Amino acid sequence: MIEVNHFEEVIQIKMSREMGGRPLYWVAAYLVDGLLIDTGCRHTAEELAGFLEGKDIRLVVNTHHHEDHVGANAPVREKFKARILAHPAAVPLINRIPGLNPYQELVWGYPEPAEAEPLPGIIKTEKYTFQVVETPGHCKDHIALFEPSKGWCFSGDIFVSENQKVLRADEDINEIARSVEKLLQIKTERLVLFTSIGRVVEDGRQALRVYLDYLRELSRKVRQLDKEVMPINAIRDRIFGRESSLCQFTGGHYSSENLIRSLLSQDGE
Ligand SMILES: [Zn+2]
Repeated sequence: MIEVNHFEEVIQIKMSREMGGRPLYWVAAYLVDGLLIDTGCRHTAEELAGFLEGKDIRLVVNTHHHEDHVGANAPVREKFKARILAHPAAVPLINRIPGLNPYQELVWGYPEPAEAEPLPGIIKTEKYTFQVVETPGHCKDHIALFEPSKGWCFSGDIFVSENQKVLRADEDINEIARSVEKLLQIKTERLVLFTSIGRVVEDGRQALRVYLDYLRELSRKVRQLDKEVMPINAIRDRIFGRESSLCQFTGGHYSSENLIRSLLSQDGE
């Protein structure tokens, strides 16, 4: 299923596999001035291609290689002959998507491969100029796109919520925090976040500051308990009550324990 929303000149296309008439999990792509940012998942690829029919799609940028961001690359490239650009480290992973966990196959599906190319530091469309901001942490090849004249920031999966309780097994929370700081250092009056879960945050700076403060406080608590030689699962239960239900659904790929482990990794502050 698809839901379309408009924010200024940005078209948000929210997509989800439908089960029993309900959305399973939303992921958003954005279309602005001929530039399509991400393409959703395999399960909604045909729906997205149908929605884009008759529109002017000149370029596709993938914020990173994950299967819920590149799922319609192939049909979009085929239909519009649009080039697909991504971080150099994402290119081989988009050209050949790594194997997926069973929950990822269920929710998003395995994307049909489509050839991507490394993106330059600046992306120009007819009316706008987008700066590519490297924002690793969620994965190594994650980028955000920032448009200075409008203050738009397409932030992919780098920011989900101000009080994050779970982390993917392969994410680095300390690197995520550094990427968030990088976004906060952008000199701009306005920073509107267009996130991949479909949340648009008008005061993006405020949300990112609250998120960073939350992570710092969480890190402080976790480190204190670790100093008291408390085991990781006990720290988790003390702070979050118990493991998240997402942990069971994803076979442990997302968990609160991952978040605690990553906060305690030597890279942390
Ligand atoms: Zn992702």
